[in-house]
Amino acid sequence: MIEENLKHVREKILEACQKADRDPSEVTLISVSKTKPIDQLMEAYQAGSRDFGENKVQEIMDKYDAMPQDVKWHMIGHLQRNKVKYIIDKVCLIHSVDSFRLAQEISIQAQKKRVPANILIEVNVAGEESKFGVSTEDVLPLVEQSASLPNIKVCGLMTIAPFVENPEENRKYFRILKQISIDIGRKNIDNVNMEILSMGMTNDFQVAIEEGATMVRVGTGIFGERNYN
Ligand SMILES: *Cc1c(COP(=O)(O)O)cnc(C)c1O
Repeated sequence: MIEENLKHVREKILEACQKADRDPSEVTLISVSKTKPIDQLMEAYQAGSRDFGENKVQEIMDKYDAMPQDVKWHMIGHLQRNKVKYIIDKVCLIHSVDSFRLAQEISIQAQKKRVPANILIEVNVAGEESKFGVSTEDVLPLVEQSASLPNIKVCGLMTIAPFVENPEENRKYFRILKQISIDIGRKNIDNVNMEILSMGMTNDFQVAIEEGATMVRVGTGIFGERNYN
């Protein structure tokens, strides 16, 4: 089932790329495997998935040891500062940086482990109270401050769009994030490139791709519904 789901998602990615006249190689599919057991991750792996997204530090640590070495792990969930040290040398990208204090801790731990840290700034584009992420006005200052820290590279922006019935409702938010990334990219700030735009989930990834997403994070569409009990 997972293999079929992946195939279906990949087809939809191709479709969206065609519609937007984009090269499909610009879009990375991240299989969001939170709460799912290793055998299901392995199914996705065997169907070609190499990028996996998780939102819990403990889960990344456990799965890191259980999965093949060529998996690229993406931290997509809210990250507590005291847990940065456990994953800093295990993840290829932290999507969810939304404070300077977190960026500082990432920098400190990256220096200790002598690894570069690639981060995205999480933006709460829709201004939802329940969501993490900085407001659209605070993106540039946080990008500038974070990029000035040792061992940190700011690689782009991430957003979690509101949960909506009709994905078209989120198009405006994706468009705003894309514009912010263009504006910041033009400033040519040291240690900043705005190559990555992480936006779009099961419900809205096609719209996100049409608006410029370079990473889409798909969970339910690949692994089915999550059970949190
Ligand atoms: C869970 C999660 C996803 C995947 O959500 P689906 O709707 O299941 O595709 C994407 N991004 C983040 C940050 C998540 O926490």
